[in-house]
Amino acid sequence: KRVVAIVGRPNVGKSALFNRLVGRRVSIVHEEEGVTRDRIVCEANWEGERFELIDTGGLGHFGKQVSPDQIVEGTETQAEVAIADASFIIFVVDISAGLAPLDEEVARILHQSGRTVFLAANKADNEDREEGAYDFDQLGFPVFPVSAVHNRGIVTLMEALIPELPKEENPTEEEPLRVAVVGRPNAGKSSYINRLLKDERVIVSDIPGTTRDSIEIPFTIGKGETARHYQLIDTAGVQKDTRGKSAVDWFSNLRTDKAIERADVVVMVLDGETGPTTRDKKVAAKIIEAQKGCILLINKWDLAKDADEDVTQTKYLPALREALPFMGFAPVLFVSAKDGYNIKRSVEAIDYVAAQTRVEITTGVLNRVVQQAVEKYPPPIAKGKRLKVFYATQSGTNPIYFKVFVNDPTYSRSNWLKYLQNQFREAFGLEGAPIFIKLVARSR
Ligand code: GDP
Repeated sequence: KRVVAIVGRPNVGKSALFNRLVGRRVSIVHEEEGVTRDRIVCEANWEGERFELIDTGGLGHFGKQVSPDQIVEGTETQAEVAIADASFIIFVVDISAGLAPLDEEVARILHQSGRTVFLAANKADNEDREEGAYDFDQLGFPVFPVSAVHNRGIVTLMEALIPELPKEENPTEEEPLRVAVVGRPNAGKSSYINRLLKDERVIVSDIPGTTRDSIEIPFTIGKGETARHYQLIDTAGVQKDTRGKSAVDWFSNLRTDKAIERADVVVMVLDGETGPTTRDKKVAAKIIEAQKGCILLINKWDLAKDADEDVTQTKYLPALREALPFMGFAPVLFVSAKDGYNIKRSVEAIDYVAAQTRVEITTGVLNRVVQQAVEKYPPPIAKGKRLKVFYATQSGTNPIYFKVFVNDPTYSRSNWLKYLQNQFREAFGLEGAPIFIKLVARSR
């Protein structure tokens, strides 16, 4: 990816260089439901060459930092965050201050990372000053004397950097989204699928393929550029077993497992007339175990409404959440395969959850949320020592994994981890997407 990060200790001129390269100060702040998602990532455009520029300047202040120790720690955190997000680093040092021990420490971290590093020796305001740049040769990176404020040497730096960036990517053909429809027998899976495929916007693209365990139905919604492709994994449509009841159960369980494993998003159909059963809990457990994105469809809502005026959605929901406590992250939709209620919206929910499972949060944004979380509710103390949080990175999508680097993972407590997970959900949404946090000892 074409991502460039600027790192360096405080006051060397990182922000000035950032502004010089971007041409303007842009700090994008999204205000959503009271949560500030603050990113300092800019789309930079250097003579038609586009790349992302990251400023880690605001990071590394986990708590009020004033002491020299904390400046060191904060600078190291910034460097690590930059390494996590960017393959190309502009390492800024200050000629007027000369080579500082902290510059050497940052250089060591950058050498270890294997990233491509350009050393910008800043404050080379005139030719005399420029001489001082060569003190930094010993750090082992190509040195570019620059003055961010006086716009000197910037072109030379960028002419060296730009050819190193990978070529801009062309969008590739979209892979179909694999959607498994699962649930206990008679919940209405077949009826839901039939209703869905009857929607006038849905085009079943091919002759459905039958595997031993399921029928896969490729379909498309929309046309041209905006077309969205799906592969529906139908576990119910396979010829119903004629053996004894236990055999039927065994085969249908096996089919459910395999369908879940193959899916990007799982649609779990529940019978709204009868409420959740033990069987439903087992299906839910499989989805959790497979770490898949999920939506819950409460089907036969036409009946639930008719049968009992009191069975309202607000009454049903708490019961459902209680029966399936580990499914709290999954959005719930009340539908009727019979009269078509909310069937369209179920597709929107599938798309939404699919997008959530693929969310990539930049390390800078993630660390601002970690920072706020640490300030609001300090990490636990164990064995007389406090868990110290250095920084976090996202290490995977679908499922979404976060690595949080700490002094010692054994100081942690499960309730604090749960709190952190809730903070991530509050900040990033991630509805329907399972998320995992792994504490890792910072190696040093
Ligand atoms: P599957 O085993 O999960 O595939 O369930 P089916 O789709 O075969 O449905 C089981 C039964 O529930 C059938 O008799 C359907 O007609 C009925 N059914 C399915 N969806 C609905 C619905 O939304 N409303 C009502 N009233 N009946 C439904």
